[in-house]
Amino acid sequence: MNYQLLYKAANNHEAYFIKGLLNKNLIKSQLLGGNLSIGIGELPVDVVQVNILVPKNKYDESKKIIANYENNLKLNDNLEEWLCEKCENVNPFNFEICWNCNN
Ligand SMILES: [Zn+2]
Repeated sequence: MNYQLLYKAANNHEAYFIKGLLNKNLIKSQLLGGNLSIGIGELPVDVVQVNILVPKNKYDESKKIIANYENNLKLNDNLEEWLCEKCENVNPFNFEICWNCNN
């Protein structure tokens, strides 16, 4: 089966997390890099990028899963901001109502 590079994870932890996400969607991924790399002896394993590969025919589906994952990351990074449930607009933390739809 042909595999295509989907995503470069920052570390093993992220790679296995994404592999798990893909598994839930019945996509079998392969991980390359991480502790398989040669010559990383002096670096902690978790700072080595891990390439995540998926079968070519599952690539588009996998991309959507990654996009969702990255969106969630962004939301977690900006805890000061909040997402409007009605229009999905992102608001600054000090706004009590959504500036877009007044919800
Ligand atoms: Zn809104």
